[in-house]
Amino acid sequence: MWAVRDAEARAEREERNEYALGDAPAPVLNLTAMETLGYVEAELLALADVIANACQLAPRFIGPGAESSIDFVAAHNSDPRRWHYNASWSKGAHWAAVYVDGRLADDDLDAGHFRRMPDRTRHEAADVVRECWRQTAAVLGIGERHVPIPDRPCPGCGGVLMLHQVVDESPAVSCETGRDCTAPVERDIRGRAWWDWRHLGALAGALDARERGAA
Ligand SMILES: [Zn+2]
Repeated sequence: MWAVRDAEARAEREERNEYALGDAPAPVLNLTAMETLGYVEAELLALADVIANACQLAPRFIGPGAESSIDFVAAHNSDPRRWHYNASWSKGAHWAAVYVDGRLADDDLDAGHFRRMPDRTRHEAADVVRECWRQTAAVLGIGERHVPIPDRPCPGCGGVLMLHQVVDESPAVSCETGRDCTAPVERDIRGRAWWDWRHLGALAGALDARERGAA
């Protein structure tokens, strides 16, 4: 398998040199994905700092033993279970995620490194995790969908209707015409006509009635 993989990689390198002719797709730079990645990274690292402040115990040298206190502190300072602030930031967001996960699970409480996570910190962590998940799901196109409804224009103004489906929420429909739409319904914060789940039945009825009238 290694040999096959190497041969394929060699063939691909030869095809991709600067003299190669033919179509080559331009690399796509997804700025939203880049921003989300930066956001999630910064939030997870900062959360690990907050949790370490709340849960991580200072190294304590308990009585004389085989090891000196300097060795003891050094061992603590290199223990991968502990968060080392700046030094740990350089290991990246996945390192922070593993640390946060361990603290949320109250792992290693008996090893003298950590105390149980206070509820206040647990709530703070939940907020950060929820927002990171929301942004990640949005960028991956899962959990949240905003799609135009084909061939069924707004009964008020004839504009494009948009279906909104957010994870854990009821679906809703908006008219993309905005403030100028004449449909007599609620408005969202941008002034768009907005049918929430309670009004979707009425919207469907209005659409059917107009299509019957046109037919
Ligand atoms: Zn409309």
